[in-house]
Amino acid sequence: MDFLIATHNKKKREELHRILSPLGINVFLDFEKGIELSDVEETGETFTENAFLKARSGCKESGLPCIADDSGLVVDALDGRPGVYSARYMGEDTPYPEKMAHLVKELEGVEDEKRTARFISVAAVVFPDGREYAVSGACEGKIGYEPKGENGFGFDPIFMVGERSFAELSAEEKDAISHRGNSLRALKKKLEEIL
Ligand code: IMP
Repeated sequence: MDFLIATHNKKKREELHRILSPLGINVFLDFEKGIELSDVEETGETFTENAFLKARSGCKESGLPCIADDSGLVVDALDGRPGVYSARYMGEDTPYPEKMAHLVKELEGVEDEKRTARFISVAAVVFPDGREYAVSGACEGKIGYEPKGENGFGFDPIFMVGERSFAELSAEEKDAISHRGNSLRALKKKLEEIL
């Protein structure tokens, strides 16, 4: 069965493709199916609501089963911010070096043990016959003191897993432990149960 992936984030597309394809799930991007999905306003208050908004819209527009992920960075010392608003932290168009510098500044004076954070990913799948499922994945880490590493995207350079940031991991290393890797592996299990 073919699935469409609904995301306009190029880096996320790459990760979704990279993780799902070897799991034996045939995923396609909108242009590969000759269509262009419209942008979906993320008006939900939870990762799950937003993942469903994107997957429902993609399924409706394409007529194909559609997978979407909604994700974000939850920082304990900031009462869970930026959370579902991660992409919009300081404005969608602000470059990540600025966003990261600001986030690190928000944690000024916060000691090591209190810099705990996690990335969350909710992966939703919506079928043309109306069936809908969502599964989640998380990855625990800490907010570093400065950006480190060149790989990945978004907040990866300040998200520390042990001694290294997400941006210092190879793609394979990140996928093996990341929130998105975990949610997509759970999604694969879910698909095996229902199909
Ligand atoms: P979404 O497209 O609404 O799910 O936005 C997710 C946002 O959360 C991204 O734009 C990043 O700011 C952040 N984010 C989610 N996953 C990751 C990741 O794997 N690395 C770095 N930042 C991430």
